Amino acid sequence: MNEKASASKGFGMRTLKFHCLKCADCCRDLLKTVRIEGTMFQEGLHLYPEEVKKLKNLAYQYEGEVTIRPKWKASSTNKVIAYQLVNHSCPFLRENVCRIYSKRPLSCRFYPRTSWGSIDSSCRWVKKHGVDKPLKEGEITIVSRQLHEAFKKVSSKLYELILKNAPRRQLILYDFKGKKKTTIDAKKFLNRYRSDNR
Ligand code: SF4
Ligand code: SF4
Repeated sequence: MNEKASASKGFGMRTLKFHCLKCADCCRDLLKTVRIEGTMFQEGLHLYPEEVKKLKNLAYQYEGEVTIRPKWKASSTNKVIAYQLVNHSCPFLRENVCRIYSKRPLSCRFYPRTSWGSIDSSCRWVKKHGVDKPLKEGEITIVSRQLHEAFKKVSSKLYELILKNAPRRQLILYDFKGKKKTTIDAKKFLNRYRSDNR
């Protein structure tokens, strides 16, 4: 594992190469507290609709139990745009190893980026490299170009799903307990989401 963090200084930008420390903290604590549109809530691991069946089949195969609930619904059609795995600890983790690594959900692939585009400050590597600390004015940190590109691809997928399934662009957000938390104007949200994650 290369622990070197490369930093391009002088342009207000630093690029850190992400190397997972394999502590599996993130897999043991899947419920995260986030603040969206002024509302605090706890969410589970973000899943896309096509990942739900796949994960249920894998759970059956590995004799694990998964609890999956809707996360985002289009308010006009009630169509579920995204789901969440609400187990506190991932049932696919055994002795710090992911048993479905090659088939793991997309959210696991671009972590410590979150499905909201932020960087999760509870990741051990993020803490170690101070990525969770406030940046100097105008400074941007990109955690691994590769991870960033993977995230951009996934955020485009989210964008398309919303445009296709939420014609009125109003999304209802549910927490991991299935409680309705807030309604988001998807158009405004997506514009901000995209500009924040160029
Ligand atoms: S699927 Fe694998 S990588 Fe994702 S949370 Fe579970 S154990 Fe971790
Ligand atoms: S918490 Fe961070 S460093 Fe630890 S396993 Fe997860 S991604 Fe890797």
